[in-house]
Amino acid sequence: MIDQAYLDSIIKEYKRYTIEGQVADYIPELKKMNRGDLGISVYDGEKVFSSGNWDKKFTIQSVSKPLVLMLALIDQGEDKIFELVGKEPTGDPFNSMIRLETYTFKKPLNPMINAGAITISSLIKGKDNEEKINRILGFIRLLADNEDIHVNKDVFLSEKETGNRNRSLGYFLKDIRCIEGSVEEVLDLYFMQCSIEVNTLDLAKMSLIIANDGFNKQTGEQLIPKKYAKIAKTFMLTCGMYDESGQFAIDVGIPSKSGVGGGIMSSAPNQYGIGVYGPALNLKGNSVAGMRMLERISKDFDMSIFL
Ligand code: GLN
Repeated sequence: MIDQAYLDSIIKEYKRYTIEGQVADYIPELKKMNRGDLGISVYDGEKVFSSGNWDKKFTIQSVSKPLVLMLALIDQGEDKIFELVGKEPTGDPFNSMIRLETYTFKKPLNPMINAGAITISSLIKGKDNEEKINRILGFIRLLADNEDIHVNKDVFLSEKETGNRNRSLGYFLKDIRCIEGSVEEVLDLYFMQCSIEVNTLDLAKMSLIIANDGFNKQTGEQLIPKKYAKIAKTFMLTCGMYDESGQFAIDVGIPSKSGVGGGIMSSAPNQYGIGVYGPALNLKGNSVAGMRMLERISKDFDMSIFL
């Protein structure tokens, strides 16, 4: 059984790996993060254990991708979503645009890379960005069971100002007719969803809902249609750790999604929701100590879905 003493010892042991990584600096505001931070929360629906810097807030970044995907699936249905975005891993970095031009179908390969996620953001319903971001926040607050979740405006403005690569992806997507309307508005919404602040407990609660196929066992509510939670979980396994997803599936085997804010949301099917925070990243943009810690926990408690 996972308990407080176990998590405390794991944090103590794995904190040393934070020196192997660097905090993201391509979004200037993220440079302020503390490289040595490491935190975790593990939730089974009844008991929750947290350790380390678990209550520190960080921006969700790409962990928002499977969440916004599920809301877009609710809004538009499967056919529309996958007409515009594919289902295949890329093997390329998260902000790559190389396949957009060479892939025959001229659409992003999957919803976990930036090109796919920007397209998915453009499919969220609402009369303007204010309504759209409030719907995304409402969905995240519902899954995390926490009303105190907001956008960090400084991180949003910092990425809006410097996000030229995402901007070029956006205009390319408009050119190949994956997105409609104002590119700048779609990018604003994408940057806002990435700038939502959470802690590891929020991630653990959200990932348990995904682990349980959208069902909240405590309240008896189906918060996300089962089929859509399964789609998100599958993308987390195949593409959630970018071009390290294959290695991670072998070493850890838990559907997970990382973000450059240092977060990882891991859904051990029908078992645990795990939230990790460790802003020291490797070159692929994944939390170094966070990944190692998950590997250890997966092995200690036989959590790999391949076992
Ligand atoms: N907002 C970040 C970006 O688009 C998210 C990337 C990430 O977390 N991997 O560059």
